[in-house]
Amino acid sequence: MSVHTSPSSPRSGPSFVDTDLRFASAALRFDDLFAFEGAEELWQSWRDGLTPDPLLDVSEWADRHRFLSPRASAEPGRYRTDRTPYMRAIVDALSPSHPARRVVFMKAAQVGATEAGNNWIGYVIHHAPGPMLSVQPTVELAKRFSRQRIDPLIAESPSLRERVKPARSRDAGNTVLSKEFPAGLLVITGANSAVGLRSMPARYLFLDEVDAYPPSADEEGDPVALAEARTRTFSWRSKVFMTSTPTIHGISRIEREYEASDQRRFFVPCPHCGHRQWLRFERLKWDKGKPETAHYLCEACDGALQEHHKTAMLIAGEWRPTAEPSDPATIGFHLSALYSPVGWLSWEAIGRMWEAATTDEARRSFKNGVLGETWIETGEAPDWQRLYERREDFAVGTVPAGGLFLTAGADVQKDRIEVSVWAWGRGLTSWLVDHIVIDGGPEHASAWAELSALLDRTWPHAHGQRLGLAKLGIDTGYEAPAVYAWARQAGFAQVAPVKGVEGFNRAAPVVGPSYVDVTTSGRKLRRGARLWTVAVATFKSETYRFLRLGRPTEDELAEGAQYPAGYVHLPKGAEVEWVKQLVAEQLVTVKTRRGFQRLEWQKLRERNEVLDCRVYARAAAWIAGIDRWSEATWRDLEAQVTAKDGESGTRPEADNASAEPDSSETPSAGLLRRERRPRGRRVFTPSYLS
Ligand SMILES: [Zn+2]
Repeated sequence: MSVHTSPSSPRSGPSFVDTDLRFASAALRFDDLFAFEGAEELWQSWRDGLTPDPLLDVSEWADRHRFLSPRASAEPGRYRTDRTPYMRAIVDALSPSHPARRVVFMKAAQVGATEAGNNWIGYVIHHAPGPMLSVQPTVELAKRFSRQRIDPLIAESPSLRERVKPARSRDAGNTVLSKEFPAGLLVITGANSAVGLRSMPARYLFLDEVDAYPPSADEEGDPVALAEARTRTFSWRSKVFMTSTPTIHGISRIEREYEASDQRRFFVPCPHCGHRQWLRFERLKWDKGKPETAHYLCEACDGALQEHHKTAMLIAGEWRPTAEPSDPATIGFHLSALYSPVGWLSWEAIGRMWEAATTDEARRSFKNGVLGETWIETGEAPDWQRLYERREDFAVGTVPAGGLFLTAGADVQKDRIEVSVWAWGRGLTSWLVDHIVIDGGPEHASAWAELSALLDRTWPHAHGQRLGLAKLGIDTGYEAPAVYAWARQAGFAQVAPVKGVEGFNRAAPVVGPSYVDVTTSGRKLRRGARLWTVAVATFKSETYRFLRLGRPTEDELAEGAQYPAGYVHLPKGAEVEWVKQLVAEQLVTVKTRRGFQRLEWQKLRERNEVLDCRVYARAAAWIAGIDRWSEATWRDLEAQVTAKDGESGTRPEADNASAEPDSSETPSAGLLRRERRPRGRRVFTPSYLS
């Protein structure tokens, strides 16, 4: 295996004792003078010559000063905390007078969580100024967050508008990602930017959608740990607010943090018997096929709670801890969309969504987005025998009709280089074309020469064209300098050096390229090679999901049924060993030393190169753009493989196509052309935002 193992980035939160000593003395002097909460506001008000507001909590501030713009809100006008009563305790924990230093909010979509963050930002600007860092999953999303959330927040609330000058005024010192205000600064950045995360010490840290953060910021480590390190200067006066819709059990950051907290749940009284309980999906009942009959069964009296009961229940609700926290300064809240206020997401709509969610993918997004819970990934290895028995009627070394272009994945070992060639079609359907073992490790020039020759090879397509390798992903884990040197020679148009990293990243399973120095004959070449970082666990999970897809029966195929999107086709000549290696690992939950659970791919068999090669070939397809192509590109690729060769007329048929690779041919299909993009930046929308 060539995955770089890194410890499971435990949160290195600040504590009373590890306060940076350089700042400790300064902080003490300050605290001697102003040793009461709210001192800074008074100080600030005195300087500004303003009459101070009475000490407000964040929710009181929002009710008094917040206005929702028609641009950013479905319910414009004065903000009312009573609309989402459960939010009061959460935002008030962000007030300086509240003892919690870390506030964790694991939530469904559609519960109004975005406004909680906005209210806090507004409160800080107006009422408790200080340095604040707001972190979105990427810098791109940070820009969007700033324009779509922060700009309206400031523009619509007079008390904020007078403190933050508009970004366009020249002297303001304000840009999209940085807002200055009296005695404070708001910096908005992305979790993928280590520079942004290290930009300044922060008293207030808003970590938004942490489950969509990359595992590592510019390879400098866990973005959450990097950002939290910036709050140390402020010790007990710091506040960290961490929110997210959760993702996968075992790797979800927000679930890990919630489980380490006191795990508060929102208890609401039954309108019939008064019993307080927190709402669970299992107790939402409806007649099958009739979600309009949805109601909630009280756990004490079995009475039916209706949608119209919700408003009164929410007003009377209260948060109660359900666990002993491992860090007393951290409090955690969990909320599902079952609490969504009347007029937002109804119980009926939730029932309807559940009935419509029939695939793994849909169930996962229901669990994450509606219930605010993690999805448990089933990583049991598919049975190799069944895969072996279902091999199909195409020869090793040939590309069936649906395959439109080829990528390869190369795994470099001590004594050999193993390469798999995969054909790809619409919907990420794939065909294993060949698996090649080149003898001799990275120290043998002959092995590299053979790998180079592979770049010039072509493989026959069922329609008679010949396909070359559009992209080859090669692992740098074993002997990086040799791989870089070869890749530089071969050219980065066709070769993509990749580095596997632990962890799942569904928003962007491949990150890069970054530029790395290369040494050739003792001379160091700056930015000599490009390196792509691949979240291998994500692609392994995807591969297993695809391998588990059922094939249509012979009858169904005869009636024109299609293979499901993502289906993995294996050639009739595939060896037992290849198939065994393809399913050589399984996903298991392991406990880390700190007691967190973590998902990890573990070997079931010693040899797993075919699986690794598949992952690198898949990464190569991702880099080529397969996940983002427009219809035009697919049409172009289909036109290439079906184009008639007008001159030679000796078009070999699929049956007698030579299975031998032919180095004399130039590829006639499977050629990737650069997509014409509309002008302007394309915004990639991760699924959790839609
Ligand atoms: Zn009851």
